[in-house]
Amino acid sequence: MPDVPAGVRRARIPEYARSPCAPLVCDRQPRLVRDYPEPVRREGEAIVELRVAGICHTDLELARGYLGFEGVLGHEFVGEVVAADEQRLVGKRVVADINAGCGRCTDCDAGNAHHCATRTVLGIVGRDGAMADRFAIPQKCLVEVPDTVTDSAAVFAEPLAAALHVLDDVPDTGEPIVVLGDGKLGQLVARALLGSGRRVVVVGRHERQALPGARWQVRGALLESELAHELDGSAVVVEATGRAAGIALALGLVRPRGTIVLKTTVAGATSVDLSPIVIHELKVAGSRCGDLKKRGSHARRTPRRPHAADRRALLARAGGRRVPPRGRARRA
Ligand SMILES: [Zn+2]
Ligand SMILES: [Zn+2]
Repeated sequence: MPDVPAGVRRARIPEYARSPCAPLVCDRQPRLVRDYPEPVRREGEAIVELRVAGICHTDLELARGYLGFEGVLGHEFVGEVVAADEQRLVGKRVVADINAGCGRCTDCDAGNAHHCATRTVLGIVGRDGAMADRFAIPQKCLVEVPDTVTDSAAVFAEPLAAALHVLDDVPDTGEPIVVLGDGKLGQLVARALLGSGRRVVVVGRHERQALPGARWQVRGALLESELAHELDGSAVVVEATGRAAGIALALGLVRPRGTIVLKTTVAGATSVDLSPIVIHELKVAGSRCGDLKKRGSHARRTPRRPHAADRRALLARAGGRRVPPRGRARRA
């Protein structure tokens, strides 16, 4: 029998463990493991029973070897607390900040636990993730889900917080912000920016996927194939393509002295010519996780309606052709 680490409470199989814990484990190849050990709860931690888990690009990269992670995948979830030091939490529906700082270092003291050098990150760094019947997580990371929010909406809490975190690095120039990428992350970033009153142009690769259905969405969407690489366009570009090539595209789209916010993480090294950053005096900001407990600071300001002029102006500078909207988009 393995040694039980200090602070771990493990006397007998707990009552909540009615069924075996069968997680999705990543060790070179993702696989379901039927006889995985029941999670052990350290002091200050809760055991959470999974209700819904999300799969994102980071999970796919972890499965390809990103960060050398081995363990249970999953960091986007809604669950129910089945055991905790704080009894008021038991039975509560929760989501979580996935970064758990040590609580003792200068970063943690400064409220910067996301950058604690010895942090664990749920399902990403040093901690089994949420794609299991049950998993352990520090109580301090948990955020209760209001009854009015469904599981299928709440499971987006973590990626939405990460999308809203872009606002911390985006200067308000009054001009439309270019969001590169029309996958889940790109769409969340676009919606977060729009929700805060910014104008947005989404540049993607999927004509029908680029935020279908709403008037502003179609008018504010472009295809990558419409753009010229020498485009000298936007003051702010948010790179959310999920591809290593995204940064080169962003460097080609941003205006001198402009800002690029990078959201994509990829496994392995990336080769890119960084000279435009110096030549054009660009600012490049990395942006990772957001703060799920942050309230109010991203409140909607006076909304600025995105309009066709944003798209046309960008296209004119790109020298690209206009792509007519299709399907429902045409009638919008
Ligand atoms: Zn994610
Ligand atoms: Zn720390």
